[in-house]
Amino acid sequence: MTHIITGLCLRDGSCVEVCPVECIVPGKPAAEWPTYYIDPDTCIDCGACVAECPFGAIFTEDDVPSAYSAKGGESLNRLGLDGHYEGTNCDGDPVELDTVRQLQAGELVDLTEDIQKNGEFFQSGPGYDAAD
Ligand code: SF4
Ligand code: SF4
Repeated sequence: MTHIITGLCLRDGSCVEVCPVECIVPGKPAAEWPTYYIDPDTCIDCGACVAECPFGAIFTEDDVPSAYSAKGGESLNRLGLDGHYEGTNCDGDPVELDTVRQLQAGELVDLTEDIQKNGEFFQSGPGYDAAD
């Protein structure tokens, strides 16, 4: 199994700091790979990243919700969406995204769509080079 970063990720980078095997990297360019990604072949399922994510974006692969119930106000960050987000990451650096949509309270979102994308990043996408 592995852990999966879903579209609730807003690129604040906190998870990278705690991963003991350094298998979490930011998608680059962000316009094509909008979230951070976990290398499924390297992740040891320690779970440290889950508690660190301020947006609750990380799940074990088996627990990624197909009907995530939005609290309202959080943003979904996914290719194809065109809303704008501005925030800061864990280092205080600005984060700007144009691939987001704000969720309505009670809205149900299928986050399992992000499982394949997470794997593709390392199989056919930029993978670790993106972190350089
Ligand atoms: S579960 Fe552990 S090993 Fe896997 S990405 Fe998270 S911190 Fe890294
Ligand atoms: S801690 Fe959460 S929001 Fe921040 S980069 Fe990791 S998955 Fe994304």
